[in-house]
Amino acid sequence: MSKSKKLIVGNWKMNPKTLAKAQTTFLLISKKVTKIASPKVQVVICPPSIFIPKIISKKVLLGAQNVFQEAEGAYTGEISASMLDDAGVSFVIVGHSERRARGETNEIVAQKVKAALSFGITPILCIGEATRDDSGEYHAFLKKQLTESLSLIPKTWIPKVVIAYEPVWAIGKNAIREATPEESEEMAIFIKKILSDLSGDAHKKTRILYGGSATVNNAEAFLSKGGVDGLLVGRDSLNPENFTEIIAIAKRV
Ligand code: PEP
Repeated sequence: MSKSKKLIVGNWKMNPKTLAKAQTTFLLISKKVTKIASPKVQVVICPPSIFIPKIISKKVLLGAQNVFQEAEGAYTGEISASMLDDAGVSFVIVGHSERRARGETNEIVAQKVKAALSFGITPILCIGEATRDDSGEYHAFLKKQLTESLSLIPKTWIPKVVIAYEPVWAIGKNAIREATPEESEEMAIFIKKILSDLSGDAHKKTRILYGGSATVNNAEAFLSKGGVDGLLVGRDSLNPENFTEIIAIAKRV
């Protein structure tokens, strides 16, 4: 996928409560996306997995919020990359901070990145520090998270991974504060440097997203000044009006 295309991803998390509401929300978004369709923007929605087979769309791609690292077997409650592929999923969020907080390590995340790519699914690898400190320790934290999460794939596969920089302190309604586009740009440059050390020039094709309280109100600033190729949107992706406005902004930025 070309870097000139903006990528807007909606993470619905464990929402909405019913399939009917999920279908209505999705339909409202995909109708508008069809209207404003642009080769300049790619749109992905990641609903809860149970809703995925019941959502049909052409213009909006489907993503999952998690994948299990093994292909099949006795893993109660898990869903494999081949199952997601079979259900029409083309992207999967891997290593979201809400999953890392529940015990997902860089090692597991690396296995999931590899499993997704092995089935042709694009992993959206989430990285981000929980806190910031004056001495810049978070740079080392981020470098370790990124390097270890990419450690099981060949370097030539790195451009197939989408990196989502999501500072944990800026995510959700309990965010300490919003990140600034300048902070996003600084971290995008830092991520590119790490990717360049890992994969040389190949890193130039790797897409980087910003996520963490990205909304209709700040999308333009992040997309024009944040040094990123798109956004990972949580809460505002459940609001069809706001989410489609973010897509319209991405089209004109
Ligand atoms: C997220 O958790 O991936 C996210 C970006 O959430 P929000 O936009 O609600 O902060």
